[in-house]
Amino acid sequence: MSLPPVRPGKIVTMGEILVDIMAVERGTGFRTPLNLRGPFPGGAPAIFIFQTARLGHPAGIISCVGDDDFGWMNVERLQRDGVDVSAIRIDDDQVTASAFVRYREDGDRDFLFNLKRSAAGQTALDPPARALLADCGHFHVMGSSLFSFHLIDEVRKAIEIVKANGATVSFDPNIRKEMLNIAEMRAGLEFMLQYCDIFLPSGPELMMPTEAKTEQAAIAELLGLGASCIVVKRAAGGASYYDATRALDVPGYPVAEADPTGAGDCFGATFVTCLRQGLPVEDCMRLANAAGALAVSRQGGMEGISSLEEMRALIARAS
Ligand code: ATP
Ligand code: MG
Repeated sequence: MSLPPVRPGKIVTMGEILVDIMAVERGTGFRTPLNLRGPFPGGAPAIFIFQTARLGHPAGIISCVGDDDFGWMNVERLQRDGVDVSAIRIDDDQVTASAFVRYREDGDRDFLFNLKRSAAGQTALDPPARALLADCGHFHVMGSSLFSFHLIDEVRKAIEIVKANGATVSFDPNIRKEMLNIAEMRAGLEFMLQYCDIFLPSGPELMMPTEAKTEQAAIAELLGLGASCIVVKRAAGGASYYDATRALDVPGYPVAEADPTGAGDCFGATFVTCLRQGLPVEDCMRLANAAGALAVSRQGGMEGISSLEEMRALIARAS
């Protein structure tokens, strides 16, 4: 299936806005007192939409935060960078979501989330959200946002609205092992696979939704569900692009890794934005790899966001 036509309008996402609080010391879990750094503005959808706006594309987010410092820090930051914040509801009865993050010695991460019972858990399609969707040309969903039946239902309604308007949809499973225990997540993933035009898994997430034994078989199966293209993120190895007629492996850019948080989000936002701006797929892939590499080279999810000039400079240095 070829890529669907571009409907003019904003790139919109829907999901958690939170603060990241990071352990300074490496190790496992949070059962002993340790030094922490933060709060950093974050949440995968928030980082995605921030990167979209940084690339000069009109962008908006549907979310909910508490009337507290964690919430306002995020809202002010997003607004300053040109994201439409009209559909972020401020709920004075709830606390803004948070994620504690600790890196293990092997580079893997442990998370401690406060999501379901936070303001983010109250995200809903209220009138400002519906107004934003009316102006949506592309809708992006993060799997991490499908953490309750309520959120899955609201995202499903949003997709029905934007699809009826001719908008396209992208989906990044962004699976955290802590979230797989949430029974609702799997239902949400299956639902999204049927509706997305652009599927953006990272390595192992490609195989998870299928029974396939090889990557090639998984790609064929997933393209058969209706996606126009699949982009597999491969960390330092770069990324691969697949559609019905071609496969393209694009190497990553070597950088010193400071913090992997947000790499996938910056990658996805850059790929989707550049594709909508009409760049050839090869360029979209190179720029997205550059966005991911720049993101891992800086600490803090939001701090990893970069401009088109910075991405082009990294590409020029590497060639
Ligand atoms: P996240 O942890 O944000 O969810 P992800 O698992 O979705 O990330 P990754 O494959 O880790 O996605 O990273 C996304 C992209 O960022 C990669 O495809 C690559 O372009 C770039 N990237 C990630 N890690 C590195 C690295 N160590 N060096 C260079 N580029 C990297
Ligand atoms: Mg990810």
